[in-house]
Amino acid sequence: MQLHEYQAKNILSEYNVPIPFGQVALSDSECEKISSSINGKVVIKAQVHAGGRGKAGGIKIVDNPLDAKKVAQDMIGGTLKTFQSGGTKFPINKVYVEEASDILKEFYLAVTMDFDEKCPVIILSTEGGMNIEEVAEKTPDKIMKIHVNPLIGPSPYKVRNLLSSLNLEKKISQQISNIIQNLYRIFKSLDCTLIEINPLAITSQEKVIALDAKITIDDDSIFRHSDIEELFDETQMNRSELKALRNDLAYIKLDGGKVGCMVNGAGLAMATMDITMKAGAAPANFLDVGGSASEERIEEAYKIIASDNDVEVILVNLFGGILRCDVAAKGIINGFENYNKSIPMVVVLRGTNSEDAKLLLENSELDISFAEDLPTAASEITKKLKK
Ligand code: GDP
Ligand code: MN
Repeated sequence: MQLHEYQAKNILSEYNVPIPFGQVALSDSECEKISSSINGKVVIKAQVHAGGRGKAGGIKIVDNPLDAKKVAQDMIGGTLKTFQSGGTKFPINKVYVEEASDILKEFYLAVTMDFDEKCPVIILSTEGGMNIEEVAEKTPDKIMKIHVNPLIGPSPYKVRNLLSSLNLEKKISQQISNIIQNLYRIFKSLDCTLIEINPLAITSQEKVIALDAKITIDDDSIFRHSDIEELFDETQMNRSELKALRNDLAYIKLDGGKVGCMVNGAGLAMATMDITMKAGAAPANFLDVGGSASEERIEEAYKIIASDNDVEVILVNLFGGILRCDVAAKGIINGFENYNKSIPMVVVLRGTNSEDAKLLLENSELDISFAEDLPTAASEITKKLKK
C-alpha cells in the first residue's frame, strides 16, 4: 500500500526526520490560507501516487498566497500523468503546501529489501534529484549501498564508513547518519517495502531535510497497522484493481494483451500466461481467483475481465481441488448474465465436478470451446482472436 507524500512526511516527522513546514490542502482557498502562514516562497505539490511529478508539472514554486491559490485552482480536480505512471492519469484531489527550501545539494536516500542478498538495504547517492534513474543507469558507482543484518539494524560503523568516503562536513554527515537510523526504525516498525527520500536536501543553512518522501507498506502486514490502513486513498487505484482487492482476487492489468485469463493458483496462472504467449497472443491480465473461490468471487472475476476493453478472448483454466468446478461454472454464468457481455471463451476444467461444470456451461448462452489441455487451449485461442 502506497502513501501520499503528505502522509509519509507526517510519519517522518513522528520519527524525528526533519522536514520543511507544510500542510495538506483540499481546496484553493485552503492552499491560499496555508501559504499566507508561510514567509517567503511556497512549494505546491500535487498529491498523487506517482513519482516524477516535478517533470510533469506537478510541483510548482510560487512567491505569494494569491499565486498559490491560482496553482491550486489548476491542480485540484485535475489529473497528472508522469513518466512513472505507466499511462495512467492520477486524479489530484489534494495538494501539499510547503515552505520552499534553499537547496545546495540533492541526495538520494532509500531503505528497501534486497531480494538477492535477502536482507534490507540502505541506498545512498550524492546525485539525487529528478534524474536518479539516469544516474543508476549511466554511473552506477555513484549509488552506494549498506546491507543490513535485520537482527542488529544498520551498524553505525558501516554508516560512518560510507559517509566518510563522501568527504562531507562533519555537521552534515552527523545529520545524515541520524536520518538513516530513524528511517530504518520506520522501515522496521511499519513493515515497509520501501522508504525513499529523493531529494534529501542539504540547505544553505547546512540543514539536511527530506524534501520528498515515498513510503510503501507491505500489503500482507496491513492487518498489524490499522492506523495506516485508514490512510489508504482508493482514488489513486485503477478501478478494476480496486474491485479485485475488495473481492480478494489477485488481479493485475497487463498492457498490450488481448487474452483475459481466469485461473486458480499463482503457479498455474503463470503457466497459463506462458502458454498464451506461445500461442502468439499476450495475456491482458494476471488473475488468480484463489484456491477456494466462491460463486460470487468468480462472478466478480468474470466481470472484471469482461469489462476490460482490450480483452477479445477469455481463457479459463481451473483446477478443481478445494475449488469445485461446478461452483466456478455457476459464477461464470452469473457474471455473464448479470454483466450481459459475451466474450468468446476457451475453457480448461479439470478436477472436482468438472463434468457437471461442462454441462452447465454447454447449456448456457456463452460462446465456449472446451480444451482438455493447455496446448489445445492455445490453438483454440489463436482461432478466436480477431484477425
Ligand atoms: P517528484 O518529481 O515527484 O519526485 O517530486 P519532488 O518532491 O522530488 O520534487 C521535484 C523537485 O522539485 C525536487 O528534486 C527539487 O529540485 C524541487 N523542489 C521540491 N521542493 C523544493 C523546494 O522547497 N525548493 C526548491 N528550490 N526546489 C524544490
Ligand atoms: Mn522526488
